[in-house]
Amino acid sequence: MSRRVLVVGGGPGGAACAYWLARDGVDVHLVEKKQYPREKACGDGLTPRAIKQLLDMGFEFDGHDLHRVDGLRAYAGDLMIEMPWPQHSIYPDWGATMRRADLDGIVASMAEQQGATIEQGTTATPIVENDKITGVTLEGGEGDRVVHPDVVVIADGSNSRFGRSAGASRRRDYPFGLAVRAYYESPQSDDRFIESQLDIRDREGRAMPGYGWVFPLGDGEINVGAGLVSTFKGWKDVNTSRILDAYIAALPDHWHVVEDTPHTRPIGGKLPMSLSVGPKVGRNWVLIGDASGAVNPFNGEGIDYAYETGRMAARYVADAVAVAGDDAALAGYARELEDTYGDYHRVARVFVKAIGNPTIMRSLTNVGLRSKPLMEWTLKVMANLLDPDEARTTEHIYKAIERTVNAGN
Ligand SMILES: Cc1cc2nc3c(=O)[nH]c(=O)nc-3n(C[C@H](O)[C@H](O)[C@H](O)COP(=O)(O)OP(=O)(O)OC[C@H]3O[C@@H](n4cnc5c(N)ncnc54)[C@H](O)[C@@H]3O)c2cc1C
Repeated sequence: MSRRVLVVGGGPGGAACAYWLARDGVDVHLVEKKQYPREKACGDGLTPRAIKQLLDMGFEFDGHDLHRVDGLRAYAGDLMIEMPWPQHSIYPDWGATMRRADLDGIVASMAEQQGATIEQGTTATPIVENDKITGVTLEGGEGDRVVHPDVVVIADGSNSRFGRSAGASRRRDYPFGLAVRAYYESPQSDDRFIESQLDIRDREGRAMPGYGWVFPLGDGEINVGAGLVSTFKGWKDVNTSRILDAYIAALPDHWHVVEDTPHTRPIGGKLPMSLSVGPKVGRNWVLIGDASGAVNPFNGEGIDYAYETGRMAARYVADAVAVAGDDAALAGYARELEDTYGDYHRVARVFVKAIGNPTIMRSLTNVGLRSKPLMEWTLKVMANLLDPDEARTTEHIYKAIERTVNAGN
């Protein structure tokens, strides 16, 4: 028998969506092509926004290998600033790191406890007729078969083959990222600050629009990575592994990293940003998480947005299945996405486009971010942690970012 809702992909987006649907009493079936614990190229960093989502789902923080983080240490040029996570009316004032190989299976099992069926080792492929997913072929897991769900939640991540087959595509004029990470041993693995470099360089010392990070895991290892954003000329020719090598070679001494001893082979992945994939809603399907391009262009964060979009979509999907055949209920999801994130992403696109210009990028880090209050404010914007009061008008945000960018001109 086909369940009413099929969720394709068991990363943060799919698992959260299945959790909220099952909690709402909806008959939901999640298929994940790999087996947990499954590896995912990631920095393993959870900001307060992600912690809020985990708290709301009743995640047991103390029972797991999770390292609490008090804030962010950011470098821009030779300026360093430590920013404790801000006090916020909605989000907690702490973050964490946790290996994705552990985290994602736990959230999926939380969805299972709410009543969702989780099927691992199963790959889904859509059968599409007249823009509608009329069936889904499942291969592996409980045996090859075709199911006919009422609604499909597409949560298959940044490559999103399923999403593309259903009719979604990415806007090429929107920013896009590539990132790579590796695990290293470090005596500073229990540092309570995650670290980020706002201007990374290649081996020749040229500034690149992107970021580097060191996220301590609290277990003797650190996650070190680097990401690039697509807004500069020739970005496709840049080898991200070489950028990571250059970043590791220039890491602050306090990490005591021995350059040539990564614990794992570096692995990388795509960062589809700024809600660049659409349409978000089809006749009987919705896109969430990386499949919808939900990564934050300012900082490459995508776990929290996968949780958030999964939860948001669950409400509309539940409405759609409550009234059989009411596909129109799904349209509200696309509207809420735009209302919630549209302005923020417009600002982010201006910013990442500006830093794609090497002159602006250089001046920004040499001049624009020299002021501590301005940098603190910029970091809050980048982590999307402005309080609703502070973020009240988009104009306010635009102006401040334009000021920062213009200071570099
Ligand atoms: C190097 C790197 C570092 C990053 N660091 C951070 C970070 O520190 N913090 C942060 O917040 N974000 C980070 N991100 C982004 C973050 O990893 C993603 O935004 C997040 O994983 C998105 O979750 P998702 O559920 O949408 O997709 P995914 O986590 O990719 O999950 C999709 C799942 O779908 C499954 N799947 C795919 N196709 C099918 C199919 N046909 N049938 C069944 N299953 C299928 C896949 O196996 C996968 O498990 C990073 C990304 C990269 C590449």
